[in-house]
Amino acid sequence: MTRTLIRTHAILTMDAGDRFLPGGAVLVEGNTIAGVLTAAELAAQPPASDAVIDARMLVLIPGFIQTHVHLCQTLFRGLAEDLELLDWLQHRIFPFEAAHSASSMYASARIGIAELLRGGTTTIMDMGSVHHEEEVVRALTESGMRAFAGKAMMDVNTAFPPLKEPTAESLRSTLEQAHQWHGSAGGRIRYAVAPRFVLSCSDALLRDAYAMTADFPGMLFHTHASENRHEMEAVRARCAMDNVAYFNHLGILHENTCLAHCIWVNDDEVSMMREHNAAVLHCPSSNLKLGSGIADVPHFMEQGIRVSLGADGAPCNNRLDMFREMHLAALIQKPGYGPRAMPARTVLRMATAGGAAALGIGGETGSIVAGKRADLQLLDLNSAWSAPAPATQDALASAIVHSCTPGNVHSVMIDGAWVYRGHEHTTLDVQRAVAEARTELDALLTRVVP
Ligand SMILES: [Zn+2]
Repeated sequence: MTRTLIRTHAILTMDAGDRFLPGGAVLVEGNTIAGVLTAAELAAQPPASDAVIDARMLVLIPGFIQTHVHLCQTLFRGLAEDLELLDWLQHRIFPFEAAHSASSMYASARIGIAELLRGGTTTIMDMGSVHHEEEVVRALTESGMRAFAGKAMMDVNTAFPPLKEPTAESLRSTLEQAHQWHGSAGGRIRYAVAPRFVLSCSDALLRDAYAMTADFPGMLFHTHASENRHEMEAVRARCAMDNVAYFNHLGILHENTCLAHCIWVNDDEVSMMREHNAAVLHCPSSNLKLGSGIADVPHFMEQGIRVSLGADGAPCNNRLDMFREMHLAALIQKPGYGPRAMPARTVLRMATAGGAAALGIGGETGSIVAGKRADLQLLDLNSAWSAPAPATQDALASAIVHSCTPGNVHSVMIDGAWVYRGHEHTTLDVQRAVAEARTELDALLTRVVP
């Protein structure tokens, strides 16, 4: 197996001890981090390697982990503006998703993946649409991305009836897909069952979808919860209780339950999330743009609840950009909690090791530790908007969280393979992906039934 030594300006390992290694190096062997060296260790005894990459002008950090995205929606970027959640779904997103063909779904996924990779994201959890999930998985597999993916399960839809399936069909196709893709692509692709949200799911669908996870080690249950006040009114009207309390009542609130948003949760529900160790998928730009509210992330973290970050779908953020999510995750808490809340190092951890913990794969990725998979990114902080960035742990974390953009990402490695190197994609042709996205969107818009 090829051994590659990457010499750096500095490494933010994001490991359990939060080690910072100025002048450090990483040895990658196959798909694994074989060694993490301090500058002194490197000088004393450079390890044997087949290749040396001189990245002494670059900062090495783990790849970002976005735990909540919708690749199926990337084509709809900019086409669902200034609406709140239920109108946004009913009048834009549901009709758009229902109009997808196999080829438009593939184009939507590809352009989203291109954006994610060049922005340093190496692992995602994706919620698909009701149909054409195979195209999302195909694009993920080809791209080199590490991912949890799953079709959206919907057996109720009073807002837009064409976008749903009979309960049995939703469960049958989900089970078939889970058998097909959980652990595929050398373990890079895993399945997450994805009932969309309470209002699009019967009790039976929610319960049986959760039950399915017991048969597949490492499978996650991925859904939206408590995002919007009007959504909460509708949930209470149907279930006679609040959203997370309802999940608890159904027995589907556990360690592999991943809840996007969690803005409108009460104290009892926070206790339930803590007791059952459910994970929160925090999407600050989406929550602000849809006017949904601000999740009480500092409180969740104080309670020991796992919190991770995601951009959500392109029509509600409107970029799948972890740098912006980190910046906003910090900023939106400061008016309420004061300027010391959500320091940059805490937010950077949420975007890396915290994401891995939320997905239950902390032993595999999310930090730069010998034995873990080589999911890495090299950042060039020598841009006018991020310089001077002195080589201290706090200054570099601050530059990454508050100053950087995807333009600072120099190279990205997933599972030991470069997927973006020297500002160039290696696994897809981005010009072609953009051109195809335009063509597919034009065709899709002719198929939309309002
Ligand atoms: Zn979402």
